[in-house]
Amino acid sequence: MQGGIEISGLSPIVIPVFVSHLGCPHRCIFCDQTQFSEPVAPERIPDIVSTFIAGCREPQLRQRVIAFYGGSFTGIEPGLLERYLAEALRLVEHGAVHGIKASTRPDMVTPELLARCRRAGFVEMEIGIQSMDERVLKASRRGHSASDAVRAAQAVRDSGMKLGIQLMPGLPGEDRESFRRTVCDAARLRPDHIRLYPAVVVKGTEMERMHQAGAYAPLDLDEAVRRCLYGYARFSGQGCTVLRMGLPPSRTLQVAAGPYHPAFGFLVKARGYRVMASVLKERFGDELDLEVHPDSVPELIGYRKENIDELGFNYSFDERLPRDCVQVRGAVERGCLQLKDIIEYIL
Ligand code: SF4
Repeated sequence: MQGGIEISGLSPIVIPVFVSHLGCPHRCIFCDQTQFSEPVAPERIPDIVSTFIAGCREPQLRQRVIAFYGGSFTGIEPGLLERYLAEALRLVEHGAVHGIKASTRPDMVTPELLARCRRAGFVEMEIGIQSMDERVLKASRRGHSASDAVRAAQAVRDSGMKLGIQLMPGLPGEDRESFRRTVCDAARLRPDHIRLYPAVVVKGTEMERMHQAGAYAPLDLDEAVRRCLYGYARFSGQGCTVLRMGLPPSRTLQVAAGPYHPAFGFLVKARGYRVMASVLKERFGDELDLEVHPDSVPELIGYRKENIDELGFNYSFDERLPRDCVQVRGAVERGCLQLKDIIEYIL
């Protein structure tokens, strides 16, 4: 139940409203401001919402949320921010949507701003943390510290909103140890949601100049998959929903180098199954007969069947098994693994 309306088990409708680069005076090395579209004017939000909802299946049975993307929402200058909040609140009060969410920077979150957003119908705030390593934040010219992230996360939790965070494995100065510490510190913030975006070199950015000058080397795809799997296993193991791994495909995104892959999230999950299957193979020998939930079969088989080709197991499915779990058929002891069981084998 939310906003007095019973919500079915269907997936929520998230209506994106782009406030591109509004509220952000910064120049992170990986961000290409020239690719931002014009921010949506507040008065256009009702039309955007009604058009979007009209194109969705069974909208009345689903939770409907406006998501302000692309800028640092709480950093928008107060007059304009009030206009966004007023339009959003009107849509909540009329029942067109059930709530609002936005993303912002850790140093642009205060209890007062969060309370103002809450009064306007906000249910969630997503904080772009990227790393908890001060050296990495500095090298990426983020302009905020790890303690800003801790303060911001606590303020969001205190406000009663859900907490989302973003991490960016592979920024300059990050090695495996740094990333493991980032995951450990960020997990302590107890986020409800997380997005993992491995750093890619986008054309026209400072990062591209550093890459061309030999001052920055992006992760290769294999290492990016491993780091994201480590994060995925840690966060999902503590009940945090991993909303996305890897940048979404986009016609405007111009990647010059780095671990971009259109099916990145699938690669990460399939790697998890490969690690679980190889641990079980070590325990039970070559004649492996594995069982997974029916929806997990593609991840068990792997991208272009690479898991099954490499490990040569037989498989079947059982819908009583949870997702992210592999079981050896007929095994009594130590024959079942979940993602949280393989963390030590990942990085
Ligand atoms: S804070 Fe966000 S919008 Fe601002 S420069 Fe960095 S990545 Fe770009």
